[in-house]
Amino acid sequence: MAGSKFAYVRNFELPDPLLPGTFMVLRLDGHAFHRLSAEHDFVKPNDERALQLMDHAARDVMNEFKDIVLAFGESDEYSFLFRRSSNVYNRRQAKILTTVASLFTSSYVYHWQQYLPNTRLKYPPSFDARLVLYPSAKEVRDYFAWRQADTHINNLYNTIFWALVLQGGETTTQAHETLKGTVSKDKHEMLFSRFSINYNLLPARFRKGSILVREPIPSETEAHADPGMVLPDVSAVEPEKKPRVKTTVVLVHCDIIGDEFWAAREYLLA
Ligand code: ATP
Ligand code: ATP
Ligand code: MG
Ligand code: MG
Ligand code: MG
Ligand code: MG
Repeated sequence: MAGSKFAYVRNFELPDPLLPGTFMVLRLDGHAFHRLSAEHDFVKPNDERALQLMDHAARDVMNEFKDIVLAFGESDEYSFLFRRSSNVYNRRQAKILTTVASLFTSSYVYHWQQYLPNTRLKYPPSFDARLVLYPSAKEVRDYFAWRQADTHINNLYNTIFWALVLQGGETTTQAHETLKGTVSKDKHEMLFSRFSINYNLLPARFRKGSILVREPIPSETEAHADPGMVLPDVSAVEPEKKPRVKTTVVLVHCDIIGDEFWAAREYLLA
């Protein structure tokens, strides 16, 4: 088809392929959620309903993008790991980024009422997104360790900060002042001695974040395998001959900094 005399403008669209054989990690972050959480009366420091809504939107993304093998969420952000050999949308960066970001956002809005039934959504929320390529398993491990360490640091700070404000009667300015120069140990002690809060007994969702991990379903149900899904396979079988394995997405709130989580799931980094 020759097309119109205008069609040449198409040539200005540049290809944006992502390097093959690298790990794609896509991170979304809520735009101005400090304001969104205040305007919608999120419970401080952690509104569990809002976190569950984030988890639901992330699960919808994983149900649509079968090449995402792992996701990690905290606060208003979510990170998604694609299997190394993924060829989703021919690895076109803009196509992947924009489709994931808009699917996540629409799911967040679509399910808002289910999690916050008594809070009318006052305006349309949005999420920014970026995609980073990592060359090896080491950087991917360190990436997720970085995000989970961030969860811990933020949650410890926010927990003592809001205890000082909500239970200790301090203003937010005073609470910032009280915490200036304190190290982790001081915060644990202050939480325990002044507010009888044992940090380690707080819900794992708050301390560890949310991990959505794709796991194979044991073989007796393989007859009903999802034809769209191939799990990364550490064996030497030819890619086109790999058996299609039915998978499920599991939500956990465990440590992903140490080796145990990854050792039990070698396929994540295959
Ligand atoms: P930016 O647009 O630059 O990302 P932001 O206001 O979203 O700005 P973030 O650094 O992303 O800033 O932080 C998100 C903020 O949203 C948190 O600091 C917290 O105040 C709030 N927030 C997000 N999720 C929750 C939640 N589940 N419960 C309570 N507060 C939350
Ligand atoms: P892709 O994901 O690659 O964009 P697509 O199915 O969205 O695939 P497009 O080339 O974008 O394909 O075409 C959008 C299609 O959506 C149209 O061909 C048409 O069938 C349908 N469509 C969109 N808007 C309308 C509308 N207002 N009324 C009827 N059909 C519509
Ligand atoms: Mg940000
Ligand atoms: Mg944000
Ligand atoms: Mg954030
Ligand atoms: Mg279209």
